[in-house]
Amino acid sequence: MQYFELLQGDAQSPRRGQWHTQRGTVQTPAFMPVATRALMRGPWHHQLRPMGTEMLLTNAFHLFTRPGLETVQALGGVHGMTGWDGPILTDSGGFQAFSLSKMTRPTDKGFEIDHPVHGGKISWTPQLAFEVQAAFQPDVAMLLDVCPAEPLVEKTCDDAVRTTLHWAKEQRALHEARGGAGSGQAQFCIVQGGVFPALREECAKGLVALDFDGYAVGGVSVGEGFHAMMAGVENSTGHLPLKKIRYLMGVGTPRDLVEAVARGIDLFDCVWPTRAGRFGTALTQHGRLHLLNAQFADDTSPIDPECSCDACQSGIPRGTLRAGFKAKELLPGMMLAQHNLHFIQNLMQEIRNSIEAGTFHTMKEQILLAYGADGAG
Ligand SMILES: [Zn+2]
Repeated sequence: MQYFELLQGDAQSPRRGQWHTQRGTVQTPAFMPVATRALMRGPWHHQLRPMGTEMLLTNAFHLFTRPGLETVQALGGVHGMTGWDGPILTDSGGFQAFSLSKMTRPTDKGFEIDHPVHGGKISWTPQLAFEVQAAFQPDVAMLLDVCPAEPLVEKTCDDAVRTTLHWAKEQRALHEARGGAGSGQAQFCIVQGGVFPALREECAKGLVALDFDGYAVGGVSVGEGFHAMMAGVENSTGHLPLKKIRYLMGVGTPRDLVEAVARGIDLFDCVWPTRAGRFGTALTQHGRLHLLNAQFADDTSPIDPECSCDACQSGIPRGTLRAGFKAKELLPGMMLAQHNLHFIQNLMQEIRNSIEAGTFHTMKEQILLAYGADGAG
């Protein structure tokens, strides 16, 4: 039986909480690193816990396409595949249907998606997304929803809300039939509605009536811009139960994290910190460093002299990393990905500490000074 415990905060303010699972407690606000195919891109898995990670995300749709249902089960589900003994959340593939862009339009039945590995078509339905996640045995399964693609006009978002609510009912019934909370798996739904407050409200209320274990805010960070994204968060969290966990999907720049925490979000995931690292960007307390810039060519400092992560303690200077990036060596990208994730988990710890101490807003202003200047975080 998994449940959220709200320790501090209310519906639309910074909140301290705990997500209790059979595999340990997650202190919130929390950030889940993304191991899409059960593998991190950069950090070693044994580095995740020391840097403050308590929960991991993998992607059920991607694992279904490769290595496939039977192989994932043979490898011990998502815990066996990742070697991670803490809680794991699997994403359901709704966002992949959006981002792969090879989808046909969603129907009442699901998505038809070109198989990214074997060719042919996959009929990715709410039933299949549910059954695959039941078989993969994550601690938290996400509903399959419809994440509308641009242009986010009202009709498109309205259709997405309608289908998302219809599928939510079906998947909630499947969950109940499997034993509900007694199955050992929690089920999170996803609020859609784009940039339209009335649609966000309708979707949130429709989902709340079905009583999920957690509520994600979806359909944000899809190119709508920072202010529209935060409006989407506010228009969702205001209609969600105070004492249930709220999860903002796909958000993870320092600025977006503190701004979303300020609006009552408890849980995050994002590939951005590790991806930025693999492309040569390091996160520091003072902002971003682009290590490919010429100014770092003969720089003997570590990535971040104030950081205690393995990469910064390795003795390898910025200049070596820059030269390595230029020569397409593997290690510089791995080291920066690991450093950036360490930075983000450290930031989450500072967020939690500052909420407890009543100093969150001061801390947020410092982050915005270093990271608030442009849309990339
Ligand atoms: Zn570091």
